[in-house]
Amino acid sequence: MEDGRTSAPRVVDCDLLIVGGGFAGCGAAFEARYWGRGLSIVVVEKAAIERSGAVAQGLSAINCYMGLRWHENRPEDFVRYVRNDLMGLSREDLVFDIARHVDSSVHLFEEWGLPIFTDPTTGRFVREGRWQVMIHGESYKPIVAEAARAAATAVDEGVVVTHLLKDREHPNRVAGAVGFSVRDGSYRVYRARAVIVAAGGASHLYRPRSSGEGWGRTWYPPWATGSAYGLLIPAGAEMTQMENRLVVTRFKDGYGPVGAWFLYLKAIATNGAGDSFEASQLAGLRDRVGAYADAKPLPTCLRNDLLLREVRAGRGPILMHTERVLDSPEKERVGWGAFLNMTVGQVVAWASQGTDPRTGPVELVLSEPYVLGSHAVCAGAWASGPGDVGPGEYAWGYNRMTSVEGLFGAGDTIGGSAHKFSSGSFTEGRLAAKGAVRYLLDHPGRPTVAPDEVEAWRRTIFAPLDRASEGRARVTDGSVVPDLLAPDQGLLRLEKIMDEYAGGVGADYTTNADLLDRGLAHLTLLREDLSATGATDLRELGRVWELDHRVWTAEAVVRHTRYREETRWPGYYYRSDFPRVDDARWRCFVNSVYDAHEGNWRLFTRPYVPLTEP
Ligand SMILES: Cc1cc2nc3c(=O)[nH]c(=O)nc-3n(C[C@H](O)[C@H](O)[C@H](O)COP(=O)(O)OP(=O)(O)OC[C@H]3O[C@@H](n4cnc5c(N)ncnc54)[C@H](O)[C@@H]3O)c2cc1C
Repeated sequence: MEDGRTSAPRVVDCDLLIVGGGFAGCGAAFEARYWGRGLSIVVVEKAAIERSGAVAQGLSAINCYMGLRWHENRPEDFVRYVRNDLMGLSREDLVFDIARHVDSSVHLFEEWGLPIFTDPTTGRFVREGRWQVMIHGESYKPIVAEAARAAATAVDEGVVVTHLLKDREHPNRVAGAVGFSVRDGSYRVYRARAVIVAAGGASHLYRPRSSGEGWGRTWYPPWATGSAYGLLIPAGAEMTQMENRLVVTRFKDGYGPVGAWFLYLKAIATNGAGDSFEASQLAGLRDRVGAYADAKPLPTCLRNDLLLREVRAGRGPILMHTERVLDSPEKERVGWGAFLNMTVGQVVAWASQGTDPRTGPVELVLSEPYVLGSHAVCAGAWASGPGDVGPGEYAWGYNRMTSVEGLFGAGDTIGGSAHKFSSGSFTEGRLAAKGAVRYLLDHPGRPTVAPDEVEAWRRTIFAPLDRASEGRARVTDGSVVPDLLAPDQGLLRLEKIMDEYAGGVGADYTTNADLLDRGLAHLTLLREDLSATGATDLRELGRVWELDHRVWTAEAVVRHTRYREETRWPGYYYRSDFPRVDDARWRCFVNSVYDAHEGNWRLFTRPYVPLTEP
């Protein structure tokens, strides 16, 4: 075991650094090797890539597959679907780019050994819904990780990346990253000519529904800590749609997935009295959101909205009638498989409550909000598009490069293009890698990393360990040091602020300008107090920096939500002071840039430009 505070930093020089070995990071490593045979490509991952990231447990479906070879869908169809689902707002150049390439990624997965359900008579993949294909998902991540491991020069695991480095000569160019090993305690310095951040989304910004013994249970995993945003924002990257947070409908208490049940098994949901409610609520919905209520399928947020209004009207609970569809061993296998591949905890929760989905309906609820860029929302960095589709202002040379030179992103990191899921995130990693290799070929020089900057980050990163050991003399009760903030205490404080002021479950997903201003004031104080965090060991040190990344993410969410004066995505959140969709003023992107030197944020809009139909 080393002490990173005193031992020599472990310095790695590479061409391309990939932060995060989840789906996007694995796609990036694989593709970077294809285009950059002689390049040094290093993946840094805080866990172990065989089981890291949002899909750690496995999945039961690949949610983004066009089926181009069977003429099942065209990329344009997918663009239209995403446009509708996002209430008219997405970066359609990015969406199209993923749609035209994603099938090739899925074919690679199959070639590498992923079992995909295939219809023996047609030879086609079995669909769960229009865009989903069904898989035996338990081995999904290990298979994808194996390809990344074979492609990368090195995979550094157990290393938490805390900050990005900037070029001393060119302040808007990335120069690498720093962090520490949770396994051996060493200080890690990565000097790189280009960086792809693929560090996933954010859970636990908001107080979860689970409390006490189930506190860590959330839908997006607790290890999704907002690093993608917490690394990019202080480095000055332009962000977009950070107000577009996700709320999902899930089985109550276990966050079990509903997709296979709704789409494949065709289960229906009713209110507590057993009545279907979607149709009866449609007229009111049209009144509030106009033509978006007529989109087919109904946008995810609006489906949430109908459910929420039914509960608000006192007609809960919302029940899924699982008992009506489990009428064959095959259906039962699919139904249970959805959990066993992905959310075993749901089955445990039901067992503890005496619930059997074969004999009675099961309760559904809306989750707390999450921030991510790959699901039915698209928060993240504003990135350059491919250039051959979309307007010129959406492309500045290198596909998926952020507004910081040499800094790329993929998956949950990149904003504006939703519905990537696992296959789309992997594909976006590939696209980002191709862009990054091109950037490397065009920019053969190395950025300059200032030794004093490296030293300053070392002091900052490890300071919580010093504070905790100095604080030992001031312990008043158990492990409480009155003038230090433990990372778990900071996290609880963050969750309370976001829940009460920024439209969490406790506030019925509702907020307004006054609440957001007050929430921002509380977040500003919390950020000040982060300089008093203490960490008793390396595990807690990791928690400190995860909290730091979450607070950056939360601040962006609050500022963006404050800036957008409308309720664009009812069912995700409501601005009570601007309760309607306002296309005339707000069918545009809300973007922000944080200036680290001035310590201030700039918020502004960017135009939405639809993709021209071919
Ligand atoms: C419960 C659940 C169910 C899902 N179901 C499906 C489904 O059925 N089908 C489907 O296609 N998709 C599904 N998805 C979505 C899919 O998992 C994501 O879209 C995809 O994983 C996003 O890829 P990513 O690379 O951006 O993030 P991740 O895959 O989450 O990867 C991020 C990686 O970065 C690492 N990391 C984070 N911070 C740091 C740091 N500071 N330093 C170093 N490393 C760091 C993480 O450990 C992780 O390995 C599901 C997701 C969840 C949570």
